[in-house]
Amino acid sequence: MPFMTATLFIVATPIGNLGDITLRALETLKAVDAIACEDTRHARRLLDHYGIGTPLLAVHEHNEAQAAEKLIALLAAGKSVALISDAGTPAVSDPGARAVAAVRRAGHRVVPIPGPNAAIAALSAAGLEGPFYFAGFLPAKVGARRTALEALKAIPATLVFYEAPHRIEETVADLVGLLEADREIVIAREITKLFEQIERMPLPAAPAWLAADENRRRGEFVLLVSAPPPRAGLDAEAERILTLLLAELPVKQAAKLAAAITGQARNELYAWALKLKDS
Ligand code: SAM
Repeated sequence: MPFMTATLFIVATPIGNLGDITLRALETLKAVDAIACEDTRHARRLLDHYGIGTPLLAVHEHNEAQAAEKLIALLAAGKSVALISDAGTPAVSDPGARAVAAVRRAGHRVVPIPGPNAAIAALSAAGLEGPFYFAGFLPAKVGARRTALEALKAIPATLVFYEAPHRIEETVADLVGLLEADREIVIAREITKLFEQIERMPLPAAPAWLAADENRRRGEFVLLVSAPPPRAGLDAEAERILTLLLAELPVKQAAKLAAAITGQARNELYAWALKLKDS
């Protein structure tokens, strides 16, 4: 394929092991007129390793809007630019999305050069089946974090979180406190690096696993929590209706009305209503 001018290439870079970069990523980083990166010193280390001398320009969280203008000016002049982040795929829990949106609005071509991503690497080695929901970083403040987790709890998919070492214990404690005890967790740390560890265990066992060795609390983390266990007989909509009715009516009446509305068996709804009332 001939090299494309006036194009923004979104290039994934390694998440630890410098060998994890595609041939196409290297060709693109060499061929473009400029590389927009989060941190020029960090980018230089990777580029030096591969003997790439392309000029750099900084695009980080705090200058993304102005940087987007620069990118658009370069593209308008027929130049090509690669966008990279400090690690993995740009715009995934990293700057990039706003710049990409602005470049698209300006009518320029955006081409992904796919490669490493910590969430996908963790999922690929976890052995958890089915859909997943990428939640990224949870809020740092306790209240907001718990509210976010309550909202994520019922999603019928593996939940994928990113976490930093200084918050790993409190986040895991909240996962254990707020999610069902029969879910599993995969703690994936330092993926592709020297001290890589990917451990799968019952969710309630996670705090003790982390506490057992301080090295287990070091580095970068992806946390995967398996989907909520299927609830026999009651679908999410029936549960929602039952919960609303229970707020206003006695158990028996709520179950009877929920059965009429949803078509689900009244005795099943009655049993669920008792459980919901207890919890
Ligand atoms: N754009 C990146 C990607 O594609 O995965 C993510 C960048 S985000 C700022 C950094 C977070 O990603 C870390 O705090 C950690 O949660 C996760 N992460 C990045 N590299 C990792 C690695 N080698 N092992 C485990 N988690 C990693």
